[in-house]
Amino acid sequence: MTTDPILREQIVAYGLKLTPSGLSQGTSGNLSVRHGNGFLITPSGTPYEEITPEGVVQVAMDGSHAEGLRPSSEWRFHRDIYAARPDLHAIVHAHPPYSTALSMCRIQIPAVHYMIAVSGGDSIRCADYYTYGSQALSDAVMRAMEGRLACLMANHGMLAAGPNLEQAMWRAVEVETLSRQYALALQVGKPVLLTDAEVAQALEKFSNYGLLAKQPSMPTS
Ligand code: 13P
Ligand code: ZN
Repeated sequence: MTTDPILREQIVAYGLKLTPSGLSQGTSGNLSVRHGNGFLITPSGTPYEEITPEGVVQVAMDGSHAEGLRPSSEWRFHRDIYAARPDLHAIVHAHPPYSTALSMCRIQIPAVHYMIAVSGGDSIRCADYYTYGSQALSDAVMRAMEGRLACLMANHGMLAAGPNLEQAMWRAVEVETLSRQYALALQVGKPVLLTDAEVAQALEKFSNYGLLAKQPSMPTS
């Protein structure tokens, strides 16, 4: 192992949480953490139970990595988020049922609950559809992530980011919960939207709430 063993162990440990948390199963989804001049990311097409610390791939910002290793096919949007957003140090991408169901309908989540604040704004956008692993998909994700900490991905899934893996994972679970609640509300009736002022108040209170009140402590090098 040539890079930080603690971060590699963390990626393995959080990967193992994806299935029990209902976010992903099998080999779908991927995780990364900013590290050194690039980031550490889960290997492509590997079941989470089989990922070892040595199997986690260090990728540089130009996409290069050690020979013989295969980083997640989605390394481009992980790279582009780290390049554009100094506040973000960890990313969870997953295909959970309700977020993915909304993404299949290509609808974004509006301000139907104060927990929309987990997104960092008044909506969770849905990135346009492009082939998985493509630069075009990454470009679409970057547009959907503008001023946000999470987004849906059309006909694919969702992603959530944060200053560390703990927050990125928490946010991913909250986005999936919100997606489930919104999908149910759409079946029951016509959800009422919060006003801009109501969302602004929730966002303000949120900056000091739960995990978000903790100072980020993820080591990045
Ligand atoms: P990887 O196994 O290459 O990370 O791909 C999984 C995935 O979710 C692609 O979008
Ligand atoms: Zn995916």
